[in-house]
This record gives sequence, structure tokens and C-alpha cells, in this order.
Amino acid sequence: MSVYASNGGCPTGGPASLIDDIRRSLEHLAAAGWRGFDCAPETLARLAAWDRPLECPPGPATLEHIAADLGDCRRCKLWRGRRRIVFGAGPSRAALVLVGEGPGQEEDRQGLPFVGAAGELLTRIIAAMGLKREAVYICNVIKCRPPDNRNPEPDEIAACLPFLRRQIAAIRPRCICTLGAVAAQALLGTQAPLGQLRGRFQQYDGIALMPTYHPAYLLRYPEKKRAVWQDVQQVMAALEGAVHPGLRTPQGG
Ligand code: SF4
Repeated sequence: MSVYASNGGCPTGGPASLIDDIRRSLEHLAAAGWRGFDCAPETLARLAAWDRPLECPPGPATLEHIAADLGDCRRCKLWRGRRRIVFGAGPSRAALVLVGEGPGQEEDRQGLPFVGAAGELLTRIIAAMGLKREAVYICNVIKCRPPDNRNPEPDEIAACLPFLRRQIAAIRPRCICTLGAVAAQALLGTQAPLGQLRGRFQQYDGIALMPTYHPAYLLRYPEKKRAVWQDVQQVMAALEGAVHPGLRTPQGG
């Protein structure tokens, strides 16, 4: 704190005025309860730091930063038909990230992922894995509902995928499980059919990624539940630390 604070700047009236300013400043500080001045080097260094501009902390952006960057997104044509952006839900340090295709009608209405009939089935799958749904981060490749629940188009995926990649980079989960062909193909950058991809770990940015069927597909083809159970059992093993050879050690493990 400057002793010149009483007149708002440097004194201009010579030594007498300077001393008068100092005296008034000290009287003011004494009246405020101050008892002496801390001139320790650490204190001076801390005061000097107050003048420096604030900098962003190093490290990846948080989910909040990413959501703020997304904003009221109009990067692809899907914004016209949406009611709400479905960003994703779950803890920012989740060990498991589930990635679906895109919001349906109920998700669009609530702004939350997997809350319709397929969402209920997904909740049961998560429970069968011995997990609470609240412990898993759930999101989609695209964040706005396509008209008539059609598949997202390549330009829409291209516009939205960078945000999903950033979400995964921020969370750094132990394991990703993609639900349906669109999510697996988008994250793995392949056109290979899901039947070829599922059932064995793939690698996404050093993270174990298990492609499996979408719960909506299971509602139509319940005979595929056995295959999904086999897939998620491998995910459970990965979460417990038994990662597939060649993949990075699980977070914190
Ligand atoms: S789908 Fe994604 S890129 Fe397209 S408008 Fe919605 S948030 Fe933006």
C-alpha cells in the first residue's frame, strides 16, 4: 500500500508536504488498526504478483470451459431443429465414458443423454456392471437431435466431434465404451462395420475403447444382449486394472 494514498498520487508540495502526507497516511493506517509494516521479501513478491495479469492455469480445459466454448452452438444445421443441446452428464473424473450417437426426442426435451427407453436399458446395463449411473459420464457424438432421429450426417459429425474429443481429453477416463456404429466409427476414424469392431478393445488416444451395440438396437434385437454382456464384462475387467496389453495403464493405476 502506498503512503501517498491520502492524496491519490505523488506529493507536489516539497519535503514538508511529503512528510505531511506520510504522517496523515500513518495516522489513517493507525486509526484502521494497523500496527507496523510487513516488508518481508515474500510479502513484497506477493504484492508484485498482484500487478501481473491473470493467466489461464496450464492443463486441459475443464468440461465447464468446453460447454462455454460450445455455447448456443450453430456450427451445423442441426441447431435449427433442436430444443436443447445435450452436452453430456456425469462426473468430470469418471473412470468410464459411454458414448452414444445423438439425442432422441426425450433427450432433446430434457437436455440430458439417454433418458428415454434406451436410457432405461442403459441404466440396467450399468447396474449389471456393478456401477452407479451417476458414476459414469454419458454423452453422444452429436449434441443436437437430428430430424426424425435419422443418423447424423458426416458434416454434422465433423462439426460436433471436436467437442466430444475435448470432453474425453478433459475427463481422461480409464475406459470408453461406444454404443452403436456411429460412435465407434467416429472416434476410431473408420468405416468398418460394428460387427467387426465390437468384442475387442480398440485404442483411442491411448485409452481402452470397447465398441458395443446401442441400447436402442437391443430393444429391437434382444438376442444381441448376450454379445453386449460379453463386451461390458471386458470393460469391467479393464476398470479393475486388467487392461488389454498395449493400452495405457488405467488412470491412477
Ligand atoms: S450438433 Fe453439435 S455442432 Fe451441430 S449445432 Fe449441435 S452442438 Fe453444434
